[in-house]
Amino acid sequence: MKKKVVVLGATGSIGRNAALELEAYPEKFEVVGLAARGSVDELVRQAGIFHPRSVVATDGARYEELASKLPPGSRALAGEEALTELVTSPDVDIVLCAIIGTAGIVPVLKALACGKRVALASKEVLCMAGELVMKAAKGTPGAELLPIDSEHSGVFQCLAGRRPEEVARLWLTASGGPFRTWSAEAIARATVEDALRHPTWNMGAKITIDSASLMNKALELVEARYLFGVEGDRLGAVIEPHSIVHALVELTDGGCIAQLAVPDMRLPIRYALSFPERLAGKPERFDFSRLNRVDFIPVDESKFPSLGFARQAIACGGTLPAVMNAANEVAVERFMRREVRFSDIWKIVGKTMARHTAEPQESLEQIREADLEARRFAETVAC
Ligand code: MG
Repeated sequence: MKKKVVVLGATGSIGRNAALELEAYPEKFEVVGLAARGSVDELVRQAGIFHPRSVVATDGARYEELASKLPPGSRALAGEEALTELVTSPDVDIVLCAIIGTAGIVPVLKALACGKRVALASKEVLCMAGELVMKAAKGTPGAELLPIDSEHSGVFQCLAGRRPEEVARLWLTASGGPFRTWSAEAIARATVEDALRHPTWNMGAKITIDSASLMNKALELVEARYLFGVEGDRLGAVIEPHSIVHALVELTDGGCIAQLAVPDMRLPIRYALSFPERLAGKPERFDFSRLNRVDFIPVDESKFPSLGFARQAIACGGTLPAVMNAANEVAVERFMRREVRFSDIWKIVGKTMARHTAEPQESLEQIREADLEARRFAETVAC
């Protein structure tokens, strides 16, 4: 039977790749809903391929344009309430969430509470509300949370069928970003243009800066902690500059399982949709003849302090990961406005986290408040 899929954030980079995957397996998947804040034309293009019954413009101001352009058979909707309606619809099997920012949290919680599979690309969901989200995922029959991020998908693929007591340690790999071999002084003076030059992945500006600072890895370690229920002392990050090895799982018997693939988001997207089945086809097959070496390089934490923030956020939990995420977002914005230096990103994150008194996660309102307060403070940290 075809799985009925809803895609949130359909027009972004993950959303467009998801559309390619969903289009490639029409016998497996039926797209019943699309939602995005971005390009109406791209939403309309995808609606022309999939003929979903509902298409949501999350930005209400785009509703009229969407309604006038949609092909017959698809209904235009607007606003964030429409997202909830879409993801909780009884016939929906899979909700793929690739919304950038915090807008994904509510629909993900609602979808899990209705027992759906959620294929998750949005970082903010687990970084901000990991405890609430995992409670919803574990507390509802049928609910599943599957990662789309390449490293987490790698861990998930390595873990398949393994009992938790057999796992000693999880490793996420990092490309190391453009500044891996730079001196601390050069990193401090790096420009926005320098930071946007990512060696292996082609992504949006925010996440490219996060890769350069390794804050991306810090956020991913927090996500991994919640997703796989592993404490901070059993989580690590290591640099693999070719982005071929995405994750490693160390087992208690001393063996180590790695997941290797050509850097292409289509495999993690496809696996989250088709799990436990593996579907044959594109992307590009892995060619061992072109891989003459794999290097693992430890992160130099004296130059890249990000992993220390992750350890702190994981050990403390509660509202602190949300504060780390919020402070980093503001710091990256300030760096992109050329208001602060690259190394000030860490300064802003560190100062904002140090000032926060963490509380156990109780509600979204409480997390949002911690997030807002952190943003206000991070905006004013003098550098
Ligand atoms: Mg990643």
